[in-house]
Amino acid sequence: MTSRRKFIQWSALGASLFAFNKTKALETLAIKNGKAQRPLVLSTWKFGVQANEVAWEVLKNGGRALDAVEAGVKVPEGDPNERSVGLGGRPDREGRVTLDSCIMDDKMNIGSVAALEHIVHPISVARAVMEKTPHVMLVGEGALDFALSQGFKKEKLLTPESEKEWIEWLKTSEYKPKANIENHDTIGMIAIDRNGNLSGACTTSGMAFKMHGRVGDSPIIGAGLFVDNEIGAVTATGHGEEVIRIAGSHTVIELMRQGLSPEEACKKAVERILTSAKLRSKEVKDLQIGFLAINKQGEFGAFSLQKGFNFAVYSPDIPNQLFDSKSLI
Ligand code: ASP
Repeated sequence: MTSRRKFIQWSALGASLFAFNKTKALETLAIKNGKAQRPLVLSTWKFGVQANEVAWEVLKNGGRALDAVEAGVKVPEGDPNERSVGLGGRPDREGRVTLDSCIMDDKMNIGSVAALEHIVHPISVARAVMEKTPHVMLVGEGALDFALSQGFKKEKLLTPESEKEWIEWLKTSEYKPKANIENHDTIGMIAIDRNGNLSGACTTSGMAFKMHGRVGDSPIIGAGLFVDNEIGAVTATGHGEEVIRIAGSHTVIELMRQGLSPEEACKKAVERILTSAKLRSKEVKDLQIGFLAINKQGEFGAFSLQKGFNFAVYSPDIPNQLFDSKSLI
């Protein structure tokens, strides 16, 4: 019986028959198949499925995880129908689409852009910051000037749909992000290539109708993304302020370093977010946070605050499937 069929049977048996859920079953499968699990790419949310397809083309041909994650996240960035990333992303409260992205490779090289306007692929600008400047992060106009100097084209990112939604929003001008209501959602992608090297990318238009100049977790190395080639790679999605508060992705890496599995480490980080919210008497019912992690061995896992977070996985054993994350609430 093929691993794939075995996996489908496992999934079909359901949680009521076995103590482990789908995610756990997948981890077990990934461990069991040892080397066969490589290469592996994971990404956040449903749009991760299409993004994984493109990343997989790079990985299956022996390409670098770094090239795979950049190519992968460019898919939702370039899709005007994805309204929380890149072109077509919802604007801030002034009607401006401002993008946040970062990238990290297996050698601790990092690059990031924040509050970048007019460029469809901020992830590639982040990579250019990483490779062609003495810095690790550029923001706003400086990031745009740099992008233009590198040959990126200046484009209008506000689509008629997003503009219409913004005009509607202006009627109340209430900033009330909701958990799992699609007015945010970041693509975070993490991968391990055939050589066992890890990389990650994270890109978003951030919270819809945010204050102009607001920067979320997604371009912050250690918050929205972190890669340690000896330990693993982690990315985050959801309310960025909460992720930054606990240095989310870096925290998950450090928990894995202490021996926790990716899922356990993601869970602990989510618990820390809950504790921090309680300390500040912050209502959590409208908050959503999701972490997605992989370790050097190819084990992977996710955990979210609320139900509703999902992620896509593509490996030789798992042909690009979407899975529900476990959640705290
Ligand atoms: N983390 C993103 C931000 O805060 C939004 C999201 O992933 O939903 O900008």
